[in-house]
Amino acid sequence: MKIVGRCVFCQGLDRTYTPVQIDLEDYTAYQVVCDQGHISHLEIRLFPFELLFDSGTLAFLDGYYREAVGSFAASLERFYEICVRVLLRARDLEEEEIGELWKVMSRQSERQLGAYAALYGSRFREQPPLLPEKVAAFRNDVIHKGRFPRRDQAAEFGDTVLRLIWRASKNLRADLSEELERELSALGMKSVKPPLPGLIVGTLDVRSMVNMRAPMEVYGTESFAEALSRFEKDREMIYPR
Ligand SMILES: [Zn+2]
Repeated sequence: MKIVGRCVFCQGLDRTYTPVQIDLEDYTAYQVVCDQGHISHLEIRLFPFELLFDSGTLAFLDGYYREAVGSFAASLERFYEICVRVLLRARDLEEEEIGELWKVMSRQSERQLGAYAALYGSRFREQPPLLPEKVAAFRNDVIHKGRFPRRDQAAEFGDTVLRLIWRASKNLRADLSEELERELSALGMKSVKPPLPGLIVGTLDVRSMVNMRAPMEVYGTESFAEALSRFEKDREMIYPR
């Protein structure tokens, strides 16, 4: 998947917008080179679960419903990871300690789910939002049994995942916004190449489907269809084919 960034150097020089295409890898910060040869360091201000949900949405829009369900499901798993990490941060754990703890669960999604449920439930004193059993069974059929879902089934699954993420992340945003910001910055540190001294550093803010940076008053109030039509309008500018 490609995302469109911009040359921070050109922008600083004379406010010129020079787009640069980035091939996404497992990172949120990249060294980009524009067609003038300027090198700059660009941090994508999106959580990996947002990029995965967008990846699922792109597949959905192109008619690849199996791939869409797979990416929505991966997005949810990575969302649980962020929740666990942010909730551990809220208990004053250092980056290194969080990393060590995560290693214990990183290879088994059931362990991650357990950690998410326990940490979320103890922090907010309410049942953690989870996929209903029927929906989880549908996901397993698609991912593990090679089932081809219909368009409406993929849309319904996307809708369920999106609402779940919105519901849980609203609590995180309201209660732990500082920890969330620190998490995003920590992700930015894990770049393809760390910024060289003197290199111009910029950030890339785009509206993802989840749209984590939307103002709280409107955050998570859209339906899947509404978010989809918003996303479709921005699509070409953010994710080139
Ligand atoms: Zn440039």
